[in-house]
Amino acid sequence: MATASAPTVFKNYIDGAWTAARGGKAIEDRNPANRDELIGMFPASTADDIRDAIASAQAAFKKWRLVPAPKRAEIMFRAAEILLERKEDYARDMTREMGKVLPETRGDVQEAIDMTYLMAGEGRRQFGHVAPSELPSKFAMAVRAPVGVAGMITPWNFPMAIPAWKVMPALVCGNTIVLKPAEDTPLSTYNLVQALEEAGVPAGVLNVVFGDGPQAGAPILDDPAVDLISFTGSTEVGRIVSQACAPSFKRCHLEMGGKNIIVVMDDANLDLAVDGAIWGGFGTTGQRCTAASRVAVHKKVYHEFVERFAAQAKKLKVGDGLDPANEMGPCVNEQQLNTVMKYVAIGKEEGAKLATGGHRLETGSHARGWFHEPTVFVDCDPKMRICQEEIFGPVVAIIPFGSFNEAIDIANGVTYGLSASIYTRDVNNAFRAQRDLETGIVYVNAPTIGAETHLPFGGTKNTGNGHREAGLAALDFYSEWKTVYVDYSDRLQRAQIDNAE
Ligand code: ADP
Repeated sequence: MATASAPTVFKNYIDGAWTAARGGKAIEDRNPANRDELIGMFPASTADDIRDAIASAQAAFKKWRLVPAPKRAEIMFRAAEILLERKEDYARDMTREMGKVLPETRGDVQEAIDMTYLMAGEGRRQFGHVAPSELPSKFAMAVRAPVGVAGMITPWNFPMAIPAWKVMPALVCGNTIVLKPAEDTPLSTYNLVQALEEAGVPAGVLNVVFGDGPQAGAPILDDPAVDLISFTGSTEVGRIVSQACAPSFKRCHLEMGGKNIIVVMDDANLDLAVDGAIWGGFGTTGQRCTAASRVAVHKKVYHEFVERFAAQAKKLKVGDGLDPANEMGPCVNEQQLNTVMKYVAIGKEEGAKLATGGHRLETGSHARGWFHEPTVFVDCDPKMRICQEEIFGPVVAIIPFGSFNEAIDIANGVTYGLSASIYTRDVNNAFRAQRDLETGIVYVNAPTIGAETHLPFGGTKNTGNGHREAGLAALDFYSEWKTVYVDYSDRLQRAQIDNAE
């Protein structure tokens, strides 16, 4: 593990060996709560390194696809045990490199553990279909087959959980992998890969190349030897990924932005709704794709909600996530902080009323980090840019509404469709909401965040392209359905013709 006093020089993992990038260039991994702390140096990989990694994955696929799935799963089960053993160390590493508070980074590692155990279990399932043939003495079934070399490009906000969401189903289905993690959070992915290596994943099956998007990510998209791509990140880059995959018809999974909403009805338990909106809006400093960046509140309870919500947001303790007193960490980097400040200015210009926050924190203990106050805009119009565009920071826009139908229109009136929530004690409205909200995930009486690994995760509209991660849905992305007919009649039997009578 890296320490503050001795920043380590890390390497790529290609064909079972830790290998320096050919170009020899490196990217710094720094603590966003204290940018003086250099956590480590990671390779700035380029197309040559990516080619090596892909060649290694391609070669390893020949053997890995033939390893029985229960055997693949045993390796993964061991990896889960290792992750569990090291959970605290890995959580601390993650807080240092991306800033979210320790209970949240423990949750991130736990999510990776959950996903690893879940997919290890799938090693003995991966059920197919057996169906009666329409012809005598003929057997018909459909089985899952691996796809091939899987390219994965991941973001920094869940730096262990998201790679695990992709790596584990890919491995259990028999694919081999080239993974490029986000440049801001390489250490957490390094830790995950090390656990898998120690658990016994064979050389070449899992390859990791560090580096930035255009240099190290793009070559994975362009290489014809890569059969599928799974990407999580911005909608802007997702479009690039999608276009790059199109010419070679790569199977492509995109998990992109969100503009998620919490709807608070007039019959809601307000204490619960305020707590949920604080957690949904400011958890992970608002840097979750499922963050509740909009809260729509019924006019009858609007003033009470706004007062309580703003007061609670104002009280949140912001600082280094390793200090248990702190409840919200920094933005991940300077660029993200600048985006937050830009949107605060946009909100003011649009005429939204600032109820609390609105400033960067840059004195005292905050002086060396990318901190920003929890910020609440009230009396917002749903068409304002702060209510339409993803900010990915600690900024929540509150919108008043007068009826259930109006709330649903506001909720659906954005280009994203990841997660939505309603607080109500009316069972009819709860069920109408889950039917009418155009998102991939709906919560009732809980905030927009909090996905569990054994259920499908993903969104509609500009959030996704129709695939789902996690749960059994992930197996559909990482495997091909192969339909097998065995005719043991010893004669030619023509489907649709010989049984027509
Ligand atoms: P975020 O908002 O999480 O930083 P990005 O979409 O910028 O989202 O980045 C997500 C991942 O996509 C990162 O691993 C990043 O390096 C990678 N990436 C960025 N640009 C490209 C690109 N042009 N081609 C391939 N990968 C890219």
